[in-house]
Amino acid sequence: MDISYILNHLGEERDEYYGSVAPPIFQTTNFCFKTVAEMRQKLTRELERPFYTRGYNPTVATLRKKLAALEKAEDAIVFSSGSAAVAAAVMSVVKGGDHVICVQKPYSWTGNLLTKYLIKYGISTTFVDGSNPVNFDKAIKENTKLIYLESPNSLTFEMQDIAEITKIAKAKNITTIVDNSYNSPLNQNPIEMGADLVLHSGSKYINGHSDVVCGVVCGSRERIMKMLAEEYMTIGSCISPQDAGLILRGLRTIELRVNQSAASTKKVADFLEKHPKIKQLNYPFSSKNPQLELAKKQMKQGGGLLSIVIKAENEAGVERFCDNLKRFLMATSWGGYESLIFPLCALAASKSFENPLPWNTVRLYIGLEDADLLIEDLKQALDKV
Ligand SMILES: *Cc1c(COP(=O)(O)O)cnc(C)c1O
Repeated sequence: MDISYILNHLGEERDEYYGSVAPPIFQTTNFCFKTVAEMRQKLTRELERPFYTRGYNPTVATLRKKLAALEKAEDAIVFSSGSAAVAAAVMSVVKGGDHVICVQKPYSWTGNLLTKYLIKYGISTTFVDGSNPVNFDKAIKENTKLIYLESPNSLTFEMQDIAEITKIAKAKNITTIVDNSYNSPLNQNPIEMGADLVLHSGSKYINGHSDVVCGVVCGSRERIMKMLAEEYMTIGSCISPQDAGLILRGLRTIELRVNQSAASTKKVADFLEKHPKIKQLNYPFSSKNPQLELAKKQMKQGGGLLSIVIKAENEAGVERFCDNLKRFLMATSWGGYESLIFPLCALAASKSFENPLPWNTVRLYIGLEDADLLIEDLKQALDKV
């Protein structure tokens, strides 16, 4: 299925909605029936037909079809946050007494789920260096049920060879989950490489307008229907019809947005790599990245994130660089239209996170602005380090 068809036509059901070009937003909690017989019949398929919005809503259903198709999966669930998607996906695979192997340095709240939350239910986790697939094989125990990957992660962009690792997992009947947020569904499709479940923080590229927090899990129809009936309906972290409508609108332009952000990021990375004030550039498609061949093997192109280690004498130097940027907003998150800067030294005050990186590390997200203007801005701010 081509991307244009998915974005503009798949799942639209326009004949049922007066030929409405934009899909209606079904802002309703419940759906009514004329007879007991009809209600009884509809209740047999409450996760597949309109009955109650937590289980099924037509606006959300349109979005689910498009997201599944983009990820080359049979089905998808949309959650009220990426973290809800991570938690539901993991909990759909493991039970008390099971063991998880997770790539080291996953997204902060994924790490918290495994080390601070699931441990309460007797689920243990081993974190491994993901650069060599053998490390996963070595960490497998009798009770290992899940391998959790994030390729690349969203701070330093280490990658894992998804095809090699899923091969190891399949041989031992272990489920593999991949957090694919960095790539969006356009630049990497882990299901094609053997992954069982692929998830996204939809707050990033999928919605793309920095106005909705949401998450997505994609997988086989069987796994997704089971997750709907169990984790999704029980924990109840559903997306609202309004937000689903906004995400559908954001999704229309995902190809343009992802490609523009990727092209500009490449330009900015080239500039930064040569700049005398930059000690190190972290970017998957950097010519100096030891994992460049793996990046080329499994990703179509880089995403809009990169991080830099600045040659500064002290934190004040890093602060002067950040404070003097005019085109970048200082904020967390990424994947929207706006370019962002996130200085890791700001994490010092956080109770939730320990900063795993050098104090002079700064993460940049390159949005949809003119790349030359962003480079000019970076140049003047680097002069102030
Ligand atoms: C943002 C993010 C998440 C969490 O998503 P939310 O929508 O913020 O809950 C998970 N994984 C990655 C890689 C992220 O960047």
